[in-house]
Amino acid sequence: MSEILVLVEHVEGQVKKVTLELLTLARKLGTPSAVWAGAGYSPEAKARLAEHGAEKIYVADSAEISDYVVAPKAELLAQLVAEKAPAAVLVAATAEAKEVAGRLAIKIDSGVLTDVVGVEDGLVAEQSIFGGGINVRSRVTKGTPIIAVRPNATPVEAAAGAGAEEQVTVAVSDVAKAARIAERVKEEKGARPELTEAVIVVSGGRGVGSAEKFGLIEELADSLGAAVGASRAATDAGFYPHEFQVGQTGKTVSPQLYIAAGISGAIQHRAGMQTAKTIVAINKDDEAPIFEFVDFGVVGDLHSVVPQLIDEINKR
Ligand code: FAD
Repeated sequence: MSEILVLVEHVEGQVKKVTLELLTLARKLGTPSAVWAGAGYSPEAKARLAEHGAEKIYVADSAEISDYVVAPKAELLAQLVAEKAPAAVLVAATAEAKEVAGRLAIKIDSGVLTDVVGVEDGLVAEQSIFGGGINVRSRVTKGTPIIAVRPNATPVEAAAGAGAEEQVTVAVSDVAKAARIAERVKEEKGARPELTEAVIVVSGGRGVGSAEKFGLIEELADSLGAAVGASRAATDAGFYPHEFQVGQTGKTVSPQLYIAAGISGAIQHRAGMQTAKTIVAINKDDEAPIFEFVDFGVVGDLHSVVPQLIDEINKR
C-alpha cells in the first residue's frame, strides 16, 4: 500500500485530535506515516499515534523547528517527500498547516487542496468552498498531492499501527529562519474543549449584550461539554476575547453541533462555521439572515430561551 504522510499537530507535547482524524483518513488511502516536527516528542505521543494506525513515525524532535515560523516544517516535509515518495501528504486545515502546505507545494512542485472534508479512492478530495456554500470534488494532477483536511470532518477510529520510529534530521536553511517565534501565546487550558477541535460549539454575538451576560453562553456551553465562540461584533465590543472569534478573520470550526445565540449570520461569520453538521440559531428577529442556513431556529430573546435550554439539558 502507498505511504501517506500525516503532519502531526501538537501542543506542549500533546497530539491534537485532528491528527487522529488525519490518521483515520490516511488508513483508507494507504499506509499512514506520522511526521513529528518540533520539540516535545514523548513515549505518550508515540503511543497515541501508533494506537491510531501510524505504521511509521518520522521524528524530527528539534527545537529549531519549533522556534521558527512554519518554513522549517515545509523543508522537513519536502525532504521526506523526496526520500520516501509518498502517495500524498495530509495536513490539518488550520491556519499554520495550510501555510506549511502552500510552501511545501512550491518546493515539491505539486498542488494543495484546502478545506477538504473527505477523500475518496484516487485521492479525489471533497472541498468545502465559498465559505461552505458549495462542495466540489478536486484532484491534484501534478506531483505529490497535499491535502489539508478540516478538523472534525472525519470521525476518529482507533486501529493499532506498528509505530516504528525513524529519526529524521533536517538542516534548516537560513531562509527558513527568517521569522523567529518570540513567544507563544499560551492557550487557556480550561475545562472546555479547544474551539477548533470541539464537537459542540456555542457562540454568542452582539445580541448577548455585554461581557457579563456572556456567562450565560458559557453556562450553556458547559451544560453540553462544548467550546465557546463569539462573533466579531461580540469580540470587538469586548464581550469575549478575540481568540474565540469565529469567522473569516477568526477561527474556522466544523463541529457536529453549532449553536449561535444573538448572531445575525453575516457572510464573514458564516465562512467560519457553515460546515458544522447541525446549526441551531437563537435570534429575536425572525428575518435575521442566519435563519436562511440553519437546521433549527428559535425565534426569541436569548436571555429567556437559553436559561430554559440549560434547565432542560440539566434535567437529562
Ligand atoms: P449583529 O449583526 O449586530 O447581530 C446581532 C444579532 O443579535 C441580530 O440578528 C439581532 O436580531 C440579535 N439579537 C439582539 N438581541 C437579541 C436577543 N436579546 N436575543 C436574541 N437575539 C438577539 N464577523 C464575524 O463574526 N467573524 C469574522 O471573522 C468576521 N470577519 C470580518 C471580516 C471583514 C473584512 C469584515 C468587513 C467583517 C467581518 N465580520 C466578521 C463582521 C461581520 O460582517 C458582522 O458585522 C458580524 O458578524 C456581526 O456580528 P453579530 O451577528 O454578533 O452582530
